[in-house]
Amino acid sequence: MISPLKKPYRVSSEYGWRTLNGVRQMHYGIDLVCLDGTQGAELVSTVDGTVTDMRNTIPDTHTGLGITTNVVGNYIYITTPQGYQVMYRHLKYNSIPSNIQKGTKVKIGDVVGRMGRTGQATPTLDHLHFEYRNPQGEAFDPKPYLDTAKVFAKPPVPAVVPQGQQTFNEKDKVVVLSAINYDTGGPFKIYYPDGYDVIQVKGDRVVIGVNGVITAAVDRKYLKLA
Ligand SMILES: [Zn+2]
Repeated sequence: MISPLKKPYRVSSEYGWRTLNGVRQMHYGIDLVCLDGTQGAELVSTVDGTVTDMRNTIPDTHTGLGITTNVVGNYIYITTPQGYQVMYRHLKYNSIPSNIQKGTKVKIGDVVGRMGRTGQATPTLDHLHFEYRNPQGEAFDPKPYLDTAKVFAKPPVPAVVPQGQQTFNEKDKVVVLSAINYDTGGPFKIYYPDGYDVIQVKGDRVVIGVNGVITAAVDRKYLKLA
């Protein structure tokens, strides 16, 4: 799973019960803020899916805690073919790209809006309320699914690799030419440009990592020996 933010972030409010303005309430998602304090940061889709609902019209001036209307501010909801729903709330006014409407299909990594503070949000700091729901409509903690991908980066253009000459074995040292995860089809960040260890090989699927910790599974055509 990729991150909904291109920048490093921290969780400012966890999933679960919390007390806000003296009221105990269930927080059905996680709140994310940029580590470097960026406001209006770009948000990207974490899944391939269809936009099932959105609102782009709440002005940035209509913000703050304690409001009772338009509580979630501007938002975009994306539903996967399996029926999982990904929710982004408190978006900046008019930040959803104009080519996105209800029914638009989006892909992993597509920009779907910008972080804001519309609705019942801290008036002084942009944050993203990020929520996952299963096909039954029940929310679950998205954090465990994000921790493997704290930083999201667009994949580089795939390098042209001569076909068929690549065989890899466990413990080979390899360089990643294109950071596409074999299993998710989504990109991952290349933290180690000097190379990764091959942990497992299954046909075209090569599991790579560092110090025995798995980073990703990559198609062998996107790898070369270091
Ligand atoms: Zn929240």
